[in-house]
Order: sequence, then structure tokens, then C-alpha cells
Amino acid sequence: MKTYYFDNNATTPVSERVWQTMEPFLKSEYGNPSSLHHRGRAPAKALREARIQVAQLLGAADDREILFTSCGSESNNTAILSCLSTNPSKKQFVTSSVEHSSIRKLGRNLSGQGYDVVEVGVSTQGFLLMDELKRVISDQTAVVSLMLANNETGALFPIDEIGSLLRERGILFHVDAVQAVGKYSLNVKSSPIDFLSLSAHKLYGPKGVGALYVRQGVPFKSFVVGGGQERGRRAGTENVAGIAGLGAACELALSDLPQEIDRLKKLRALFEDSLGEKVPGIEINGDLYRRLPTTRNVRFPGVDAEALMMALDQKGICVSSGSACMSGSHEPSHVLKAMGLSDEEANSSIRFSFGRFTSEQDIREVVPMIRETLDYFKEVERNSVAGSRKAPR
Ligand code: PLP
Repeated sequence: MKTYYFDNNATTPVSERVWQTMEPFLKSEYGNPSSLHHRGRAPAKALREARIQVAQLLGAADDREILFTSCGSESNNTAILSCLSTNPSKKQFVTSSVEHSSIRKLGRNLSGQGYDVVEVGVSTQGFLLMDELKRVISDQTAVVSLMLANNETGALFPIDEIGSLLRERGILFHVDAVQAVGKYSLNVKSSPIDFLSLSAHKLYGPKGVGALYVRQGVPFKSFVVGGGQERGRRAGTENVAGIAGLGAACELALSDLPQEIDRLKKLRALFEDSLGEKVPGIEINGDLYRRLPTTRNVRFPGVDAEALMMALDQKGICVSSGSACMSGSHEPSHVLKAMGLSDEEANSSIRFSFGRFTSEQDIREVVPMIRETLDYFKEVERNSVAGSRKAPR
């Protein structure tokens, strides 16, 4: 059975070039990058190269601004905990109601430790309520953490506008760009951002490696302590293969970013037009314009999204209802709820996320399969209603 992988926001396949870059560090180049003997040289060089490749994709002024971590969640936690510990007199942490669980759960923990944690709301289109943000920030705010692109709807927050506002007020700004890096043009040098998180597995790199951009001159306190790796900012022997893979993934993304964005926009338009034609009555969750080209969140009124997802899986189609980290929780998506959807509406929504390996042909094949599945659901429902009418009393 052919796999139609439309869940690229959950994770992406590792690209061939990335794998080739990683392979030697899982076999022959086993040296520790901190070793002074010859076995340490190739791994150390791989780390240097990867740091430059990540810095280039982000448009960082200096590759020393890049810190390697184990994942996007670690980058997020590190940035916020660093801001709080370098500003011990400030007790407020501001974020939004649609963030990834690595931010929201940290917020809940901080709240339990006496911090004032504020989640700014979003509009029905999924955009940050800027007036609310302006109202809540104060001299007590240690850090504001917001995502660049939402993992469920693809909605983009205006990070430059937000960053300028925070800079005027002397407040540190962390951006969770895990879903945006490699799919959106970034230039951290000219953007008013202090910290930015990314994760390799969202851009055709391996799982278990991420990075944190820390603007030069911004105070930083280590979260993982021990050895002197990462210039004393994150202890632990580096995941050399993973980091080399992240570097290659960043180089690949940078090589054709505008063309790939364009291609993805065309695919998304094809998907929306053909799905709208074949399945009248669907609703799109979120704005049609300010969003990632990869993401479409579609509501199928009256349909149980989880049942639809499982039925599509039987046909080889991988999609998700809610974010990968929350799937299995049976809770309606907090993102869709924050946008004002009812539990029932949220539970009838599916996220389709496209990527580098999605083709026009895939979309042309999948849309009729979605239609067939929905027709089958209707048929089953009709039969069960008819059956219950005939049932003896
Ligand atoms: N932030 C966002 C917006 C995400 O979508 C994710 C993963 O889905 C993360 C952070 C966490 O990244 P990781 O899986 O690398 O910990």
C-alpha cells in the first residue's frame, strides 16, 4: 500500500543528503569532538560546519549564537528558564493560549512556583490579540515567549512587530520557530528576537536534535550543567551525527527556500480547491493568508475526526487530529478551542500538513479517497438509523 504522508508538522522524513552526512558519525567517525587526538578532529569539524549552516539559515550575525540541544522542547525550556534566572526580580512570564505543550506545561510549573503566568488569547482566525499583549506586559515581565507559526493551523504571529514592542519596554523575547524554520524566510540579525528555538526533525533532519539561537550579548544561564561543551552553555557530549544532520538539513532548506515555499503554496491551493469541490460543506480553521504554506486545518462538520483519521490510515493516508504530542489525549485541541471552536467543532477537525516529498499526484489521489471515506461514513450512519427504526421494541 502506498503511503500518503500528510503529517509533516508532526515530523518529516530524513532526506537522503542528511542521511549521507550523518552516516560516517554513526560508524567510522566515532571520536569525541572534545578529544585532542586525531579521532576527535572530524567530529569537531562537523560541529563547526553545522553551527555555520544553522546560523546561515537563520540569518544570524555569528555562528557562536547557535547552541545545540536535544530537541525543540529543550530549546524552549532552556530559553525561558534562562530568562527567568537572569532576571530574578521579575516574576511574570507571558505567552499565548495556543503554544506547544513544552511552553504551556512549563508555564503551569512556573505558576506553581509563584510566577505570574499570563496566556494572551487569539482571534477566531488564530492571530495573537495584540491589544491584550500590550495590556498585560509590565515592568515585572521577565520574558515573552510566542510561536512564529502554529503547529495546528499554520497561523503566523507578527514577530517583528511584537519584538519591537518588547524591545522598547526592555523585555526579553523568545520565539518558538520549530514549525517555521525551513519553511519561512528568517533573519534573526535584523529581527528583534533574543532567543529562537528550532528542531531538526521538522525540516528533514533526524529526531533528537535541536538548536537555540541566543543573541550575542543577551545574558544566558545554563540549564544542563556538567562538562564545558557548547562553550559552557549546555553540558553533555554532543550528538555529532544528529548535529551534522541538522546542519545538512539547514543547508538543504536554504538552497531552495523561495522555490519550495512557492511549490508548497501551489500544492496547498490545489488541495483546498479540489477538496472544496469534492466535499462541499467543509470549513477551514484559521486565516487563509497569514499562515505557513505547509498547513491546512479542515473541519468536516458532523464527522468524528479521530474515526476519519483512522479510516484514512487504512488507505495509507497519514494525517492528524490535533498536535502529535497531544494525540491520544482525547481532549479537543486547545488551539482550536482558543480560536472559539466548540468541543464538537474541534473534534471534527483534521490537520493536513505537506512537505518536500508531497507531490501534486499525491493530492490528486488523496482527495477522492477522502470523499469515498466520507460517503462510506454516511452510508454506515444511514444503515444504522434504518436498523434502529426496524429494531423490535
Ligand atoms: N514547538 C512546536 C511549535 C512544535 O510543533 C513542536 C513539536 O511538535 C515543538 C515545539 C517540540 O519540538 P520537539 O519535538 O523537537 O521537542
